[in-house]
Amino acid sequence: MTKPTTTNTGIPVESDNESLTAGAQGPILLHDHYLIEKLAQFNRERVPERIVHAKGAGAYGELVVTNDVSEYTKAKLFQPGARTESLVRFSTVAGEQGSPDTWRDPRGFAVKFYTEDGNYDLVGNNTPIFFIKDPIKFPDFIRSQKRLPGNGLRDHNMQWDFWTLRPETAHQVTWLMGDRGIPKTYRHMNGYGSHTYQWINAAGERFWVKYHFKTDQGIENLTQAEADRIAGADADYHRKDLWEAIERGDFPSWTLYVQVMPVAEAEGYRFNPFDLTKVWSHKDYPLIEVGKWALNRNPGNYFVDIEQAAFEPSNVVPGIGFSPDKMLLGRVFAYADAHRYRIGTNYAQLPPNRARAAEVNSYSKEGAMRYDYNDASVPVYAPNSFGGPHADPERAGDSGIWDFDPTMVRAGYVQHAEDGDFTQAGTLVREVYDDEQRDRLVDNIVGHVLGGVREPVLSRVFEYWKNVDADLGKRVEEGVRAGLNGNGSTPPPAQG
Ligand code: NDP
Repeated sequence: MTKPTTTNTGIPVESDNESLTAGAQGPILLHDHYLIEKLAQFNRERVPERIVHAKGAGAYGELVVTNDVSEYTKAKLFQPGARTESLVRFSTVAGEQGSPDTWRDPRGFAVKFYTEDGNYDLVGNNTPIFFIKDPIKFPDFIRSQKRLPGNGLRDHNMQWDFWTLRPETAHQVTWLMGDRGIPKTYRHMNGYGSHTYQWINAAGERFWVKYHFKTDQGIENLTQAEADRIAGADADYHRKDLWEAIERGDFPSWTLYVQVMPVAEAEGYRFNPFDLTKVWSHKDYPLIEVGKWALNRNPGNYFVDIEQAAFEPSNVVPGIGFSPDKMLLGRVFAYADAHRYRIGTNYAQLPPNRARAAEVNSYSKEGAMRYDYNDASVPVYAPNSFGGPHADPERAGDSGIWDFDPTMVRAGYVQHAEDGDFTQAGTLVREVYDDEQRDRLVDNIVGHVLGGVREPVLSRVFEYWKNVDADLGKRVEEGVRAGLNGNGSTPPPAQG
């Protein structure tokens, strides 16, 4: 028996085919709720497409670590034998959602690892380099590769205008115009983390690393003529190839390698190791095998799993950090910002983005479409006295710190001779307020505290005001205790 059609809220509907009208020829009636819901839902089916990497395909898979690289990183996903579920999204860069897969363009190679320490995103390309080296040029570069403002057409003149005005593009353009500029399928190309990242081992030693996913299918490419023909015949050629390979159990795989550079060698290396337009020569830094990464499951729903997938280079887990690669640092900001705009503040709740970590103890709350929440006993602010989650100082330096000038730290201001949290508050009380103002200050504090402040917070309130001014603190304590003991007037109601 077929299931009844229902509204979004589960109410059986009267008709899938005819709207409710005033007579067979008559106007449509506004209270045909199912019709209105259907049209309104349809109008809202799209989220904005990605400004770059709009056209893509993706699948789930697994990383299995086959080698021991623990001397370089303590990251749990890279420990010997570790198995980590993963999601990938391959894409072209400049084309829109419906554009042909076989246009000459770099390919995105964005990988998410669902580790027990939270999601780790390695958001790379099928090239180990990029066109530019400073994020301030990224919007200019992408605009020059997309469409003219007037007629909305792609324009090679605009592309070459930018490339020739910015000679740092030469390495990537050489690659793009070469054989690997149009891969045969997503399965037949390598992936590269492209940026330089940081690995940190259990002893706290740091290394610079570059990631290489080498295709086990072998590298195969399309000629320009083949690609042009396919672009007309089947715009979704690469998306279809990936889907069909996984459906028939022909799971594509890649061998993951890293290049590792001791931190001390970075300064003297013949290429700036943080410049995204350069590689580290394999001869100088040979590939070290890490593991096998294979794709084995198609998405259940393209929109839910792939269109809403949010990859963000800001997601690094303990044992992995950023580097002074300016493009990486720009992307650390830009990706999360793009997701908030494109799919909403609470994008991390969506199925492809949900952390598989044992615990997600964020203080994030509310916002559009929020549906998960902390227990009511968990405070909504930090620090707190009620057992809420607290940050782990052991992680200090893991994600974004390196020993260059100026050294980056997480620290408060340098304390000058008279700095102190209470100093100027005490001056205000003693030297600016007169007796009447001080009396009102005491009354206001006492009234506010009697509005519901309890131990252990209460004792800290007395201490706090004694630090501001000993006499003031004493008067506050006396006033509050009198109020709590029922002496004097009824405690005033809680304020603001
Ligand atoms: P190597 O001779 O050690 O490495 C050359 C690498 O070039 C190969 O390992 C292969 O990398 C890659 N390659 C082979 N054919 C092509 C092609 N048609 N288009 C693009 N890449 C190709 O030299 P170096 O490491 O000193 O690098 C020399 C140049 O090779 C670089 O300037 C760069 O353009 C390119 N290259 C370097 C890579 C690196 O990380 N060092 C990676 C890829 C290319 P792979 O095995 O990754 O496919």
